[in-house]
Amino acid sequence: MVNQIFVTKSSMPSYEEYCEIIKPIFESKHLTNMGPFHNKLAHEVGSYLGVKNVSLFTNGHLALCTAIKALGLTGEVITTPFTFASTTHAITDSGLTPVFCDVNPDTYTIDVSKIEELITDKTSAIVPVHVYGNVCDVYAIEKIAKRHNLKVIYDAAHVFGVKIGQRGIGSYGDVSMFSFHATKVFNTIEGGCLTYSDDSLTDKISSLRNFGITSPESVDMIGTNAKMNEFQAAMGLCNLRHIDEELKKREKAENQYRKRLEDKEGIRLCPVQDNVVSNHAYFPVVFDKEKFGKNRDEVAEALARNNVFARKYFYPITNEFSCYKDKFAGETPIAKKISENVLTLPLYSDLTVDEVDFICDIILKWECEQ
Ligand SMILES: *Cc1c(COP(=O)(O)O)cnc(C)c1O
Repeated sequence: MVNQIFVTKSSMPSYEEYCEIIKPIFESKHLTNMGPFHNKLAHEVGSYLGVKNVSLFTNGHLALCTAIKALGLTGEVITTPFTFASTTHAITDSGLTPVFCDVNPDTYTIDVSKIEELITDKTSAIVPVHVYGNVCDVYAIEKIAKRHNLKVIYDAAHVFGVKIGQRGIGSYGDVSMFSFHATKVFNTIEGGCLTYSDDSLTDKISSLRNFGITSPESVDMIGTNAKMNEFQAAMGLCNLRHIDEELKKREKAENQYRKRLEDKEGIRLCPVQDNVVSNHAYFPVVFDKEKFGKNRDEVAEALARNNVFARKYFYPITNEFSCYKDKFAGETPIAKKISENVLTLPLYSDLTVDEVDFICDIILKWECEQ
């Protein structure tokens, strides 16, 4: 009987390392509101991601909502439904209308050839998702945005540490949102940040994150409370010390998956993208029942019988949620088909090559039985 294997396992420093770093907080009693750990982490994340400005948040979702507010978006926003609930909720909760664009069948990111037909005189922005760590076609998106005078906010929740060539992924578009949730490649327990090049956004984002307070006696905007506290920042500082070795371990597990599952009839893996430094965030696999013999649900059940708990990310797509179904424009048959056939396999830094082999044996044994 093996241990249970879940789709992810949070990266953490040792107990001693975390206790050591938080000691000064018990002296200073400075728990939140942009304390020294907060400011240090913002600086270090900026260097690591290779971006000009970083604003930290208590989670990624509120960061995304704040980006939408800071850029003053109105009317319609073009986005994809093949994502976590957060992306679509951030748009609708801000009083905007999502217009759903279908995804590229290889990378599952926004299909740039279908964006322009969705633009109307109400469109104010594009909100693409670098889903699973696959990068969007940032150059095509930039051209379209320039041509139609649209803002671009990337949901970069999955791409901490990803680069195109030498350039950090967070430096594309007007603003990018990273999530530091416990399940992400880099975590601050809960947390997130916005990255952006335009310095004039800094003060606005800072006050929107803190109730719209601009000085001790003035509140000039309707803001929220989304500040990152010192214990979160301390966890981030510890995790950032180990991020490179964590990514290497993830890469090793991913390589083993690729070795075992590549070129198997009826199994489709995400491509390794040219000129992209990956963060090995997720390992999604699409099963084609006609060719593989079993569908996604049957594979998930076989794994579960062996204590391996893969996840149906992202299923259902957000435009099929009961709160959104048939309410918004945009046909997305490719996103729908992928979501019905994709299974995200366990991938985290502590996952061993033997465990990857165990998982692949279960999947491939099923293949042989047919
Ligand atoms: C995790 C995630 C978010 C939200 O991040 P939180 O930090 O959990 O609020 C947004 N978008 C995507 C695609 C995510 O996976």
